[in-house]
Amino acid sequence: MSLLDIAGTPRWLHRFVLGYEPIAESMSIAGGDPAEFLLEPVTAAAVDYGHAWVLLDSGFDVATVRDPERRAAQYNYDSYTAVVPPGDPLVDQTRHAGLDWNLLAGCAISHLHLDHSGGLRLLAGGPPVIVQRREWTFATTVADRRHAYAPGDYRRPGLDIRLIDGDTPLAPGLTALDTHGHTPGHQSFRIDLPDRTVVLACDAADLRANIVERRRCGTTTDPGLAAAAQRAIERLHALDRIDGIEVWPGHDPAWWAWQRPGRYPVPTERTKK
Ligand SMILES: [Zn+2]
Repeated sequence: MSLLDIAGTPRWLHRFVLGYEPIAESMSIAGGDPAEFLLEPVTAAAVDYGHAWVLLDSGFDVATVRDPERRAAQYNYDSYTAVVPPGDPLVDQTRHAGLDWNLLAGCAISHLHLDHSGGLRLLAGGPPVIVQRREWTFATTVADRRHAYAPGDYRRPGLDIRLIDGDTPLAPGLTALDTHGHTPGHQSFRIDLPDRTVVLACDAADLRANIVERRRCGTTTDPGLAAAAQRAIERLHALDRIDGIEVWPGHDPAWWAWQRPGRYPVPTERTKK
């Protein structure tokens, strides 16, 4: 029995790039160069069942990004800032993909960092929002801007937050995988498409090199989470070696899927490696 009431199986995965952020390589990958910056895509996806869909992650809150005061308070620090395209990228890209918000069956958020939680503004009064319990506990008791969390994004009246513990089937062919370490309750997502499986690593592996070279993410909420982050990357590396499974990094500017947003599988498709 899965959490969301959806019949059928996933037919397509829609790939979204909702903005960009400058990130030091050392933040993305353990052992990376702290002086080299990557302009990393802020990614999200939709699992499309034809008659229903599920949103995975949600990008920045563009209203905050466009308000100078709120932006300064929340998004600009050290060398970090949020870069967003014109319009409302989540609304615009889901429309372009042909997705109807009335058919949205649920949303799952990998973790509540502010580059993943901003789209929750569109979900008040809407379908369930699924988060790992450990993530929610941290996000609502400890986390603030210092941890790159924006509590205003997720402590929003009208959100139907559902908490899960570890690996959990969310809908047919869609499973949450425990990959905590980057944050206390980070999760990745496994999507079983008709002829292949995609695993969205999200921030358990920003870059493809994390997965291939088994190098954990460069930042963890707490240094004590480094061992968990390494276990998460070992898990993703092992999945990626299985025939028919592709593990996609969450923020890799060089990863093909985030260079050409669109539907997957696509007619002229590429595969990993
Ligand atoms: Zn993150």
